[in-house]
Amino acid sequence: MELSHDQIKELEAVLLARRKALNAEVNEHLQQTSAQRLEGSENTVGDVGDESVAHMMTDLSLAEATRDINELRDVEAALQRIAEGGYGECLDCGGDIDHARLMAYPTATRCVTCQSQHEKTYATQGMPSL
Ligand SMILES: [Zn+2]
Repeated sequence: MELSHDQIKELEAVLLARRKALNAEVNEHLQQTSAQRLEGSENTVGDVGDESVAHMMTDLSLAEATRDINELRDVEAALQRIAEGGYGECLDCGGDIDHARLMAYPTATRCVTCQSQHEKTYATQGMPSL
């Protein structure tokens, strides 16, 4: 079943809220990262143990920021599809993605059937063929 105008508006609101939250998170992680860098450079006589903890935390913040940025990109792409009119269509079969699925995953680009097929294919490719 195709999405109604109201359903799309509702999902758009969810995506816009998610984008706002992700932007705030990314900024926070990046600020943490630069604050930790600053501490690291001031603390040049500190012992090695402290420094590696600081580096590890910086890496963690960066990893989290990267993950958020990736999700942000998916959210932007979904908003783009809403603007262009292709939102809610399966990327693979062109069928309609379930409204319930979109409420759970507003950035979903495939219907349940194609997604599980895609994951199966992907998982098989990732296996070493010994
Ligand atoms: Zn499909």
